[in-house]
Amino acid sequence: MIEKLTFLVQGSATEPYEPTFWKDGDNLTTSCTCLAGDNGWYCKHRFAVMNGDTTNLVSDNKDDVKRLRQMLVGSDVEDANADLAIALEASEKLQSKRKLAAPKRRTHISTQAATPYLVDQGFLTGNDRTHFFDLFDGADHYIGSIPAQDSVFQPKVDKVFNLPNLCSIAWREKTLDKIFCFMAGSDIEAMMRLETKLSEFKIRLKIAMHD
Ligand SMILES: [Zn+2]
Repeated sequence: MIEKLTFLVQGSATEPYEPTFWKDGDNLTTSCTCLAGDNGWYCKHRFAVMNGDTTNLVSDNKDDVKRLRQMLVGSDVEDANADLAIALEASEKLQSKRKLAAPKRRTHISTQAATPYLVDQGFLTGNDRTHFFDLFDGADHYIGSIPAQDSVFQPKVDKVFNLPNLCSIAWREKTLDKIFCFMAGSDIEAMMRLETKLSEFKIRLKIAMHD
């Protein structure tokens, strides 16, 4: 049996928009009369009712919003939405970690995490006072420094590595490999992986909502 719910949501136009939801088995399908909905893109009207937000609801069926929440349970849309939510959360967490990294986390990372490993490998010397990794090529030939947060959070080390005559490309690649080895299995690596999947998850949700 196909269940169908229709709502009227006031948007920017005079006429309210009409988000509609059908459920057949586990398959939830949605549509909306707004321009974004017509083109098959996301629209806020559908997400508002799906998220239980009745602020702009002008149809007289608030109870159907609760029914819609039940319809979502176990549906393909709920599934895709949950994955997207996890990736979005990881991305937001990363953003705030990156912000934190700027002034404060540098010392923390260089002294507590990155330095011991990289020093063991003979690649870097951590420097608590400057919050930079000092790079040494071989025994004690000083090459340059990279901010600790750059090396761990994003391979922006290019800035340093690309300075002319600073180091060989082979050395640079080897060092980047070490940094990524160090990140392997960490929470940051897991979050970065989810972050790269954001657009894939968005497309999956879009497909789930429209088929
Ligand atoms: Zn819409």
